[in-house]
Amino acid sequence: MSAATTLKDAQSIASWIVDVRRQLHRIPELKYEEVKTSALVQATLKELGIPFKAGMAETGVVGTVGPKDGPCVALRADMDALPIEEAVVSDFRSTHPGRMHACGHDCHTAMLLGAAKLLKQREATLPGPVKLIFQPAEEGGAGAERMCQAGVLDAPNVQRIFGLHVWPQIPTGVIGGKAGTFLAAAGELEIVIHGKGGHAAMPHFARDPVTTAAQVITALQTIISRELDPLVAGVISVTTVHGGSTYNVIPEEVRLTGTIRSLTLAGLKALQTRVTEVATHVAAAHRCTAEVSFPGNDYPPTDNDPHAWGLSQQIGRDLLGDAGVKTLEAVMGGEDFAYYVQGGVPGCFVALGIRNQELGAIHSVHTPQFLVDEAALPLGAAMHVEFAMRSLSELAATK
Ligand SMILES: [Zn+2]
Ligand SMILES: [Zn+2]
Repeated sequence: MSAATTLKDAQSIASWIVDVRRQLHRIPELKYEEVKTSALVQATLKELGIPFKAGMAETGVVGTVGPKDGPCVALRADMDALPIEEAVVSDFRSTHPGRMHACGHDCHTAMLLGAAKLLKQREATLPGPVKLIFQPAEEGGAGAERMCQAGVLDAPNVQRIFGLHVWPQIPTGVIGGKAGTFLAAAGELEIVIHGKGGHAAMPHFARDPVTTAAQVITALQTIISRELDPLVAGVISVTTVHGGSTYNVIPEEVRLTGTIRSLTLAGLKALQTRVTEVATHVAAAHRCTAEVSFPGNDYPPTDNDPHAWGLSQQIGRDLLGDAGVKTLEAVMGGEDFAYYVQGGVPGCFVALGIRNQELGAIHSVHTPQFLVDEAALPLGAAMHVEFAMRSLSELAATK
């Protein structure tokens, strides 16, 4: 079947995909709490006659289309939302206060369900099984790691995996990516500066954690600007500062949190070591102590297999034309898609353009203004179908 047919088939179910996406957009749920989302995925797969396994890594679902035997390819979507109050007004606005699909995972899930519908129609032509992975907790929860631990890549063994992410930096009708490291290794940072509280008028009886925290924040920035090779990428961002309760009391402690990024896990570890050293010594210089920790999961970098990226580009050109493929620079965002490929399964994570100036779809993910050009959704579903079909025929031919 040609790419043109796939695109036509995907366009013919565009309103179905958009409707699923809007249903999901109304019910955003945080990591490992995707109960309604998972139920909707399961109900849809059931309706499509696709067998699935639910309850993997809490709320994860894996559907399978195609014959039992033959090469196996996986397509992945994430289902979780963010603790953000949606600022966009629409008739499918979030109905969960303080929760929003601000990273587009509603789109990812809807596009994969769209691909499931199309692949089911073509089931008889598939030379092997396609696993449809709907995972929880991409946003900091390492849902992908837990799906791998639960055996999502085994029996049958996945030989290639693809994922799509909506990308507001590139226009609708364009896909992007690169071979090699595309997304960063990322980890969380927490520093608690302990001092000695006291009356703000008598600082000499106290040990001030507020001024110390200020020194720590600025000193941490010199790790990137003065210690790291300027040609090597690294980020240290302190993003929250909490301390004190009133204007005339020096508090006992100040709590800082943030994130550290590098393009390698070794680079991330090296930055963590220096953050610990700098924070504890700067705090000591100011007669305070710093308790440094790196809670949560350190995501590995996302490495795109060169062949899988080559195939993705070919699919992009066939579906969208020569202008529909863009090579991107690596970005310092993190993605738990990394866990699927770090064990040696070749894979590719591809950016799907959703930018549309006229609609106001120009805002970054993770913002309350984030808006998606839904015209991109059938294109994403078509990409998924082609990822699976072409990979399966390549793998079947090289067997
Ligand atoms: Zn995100
Ligand atoms: Zn995301």
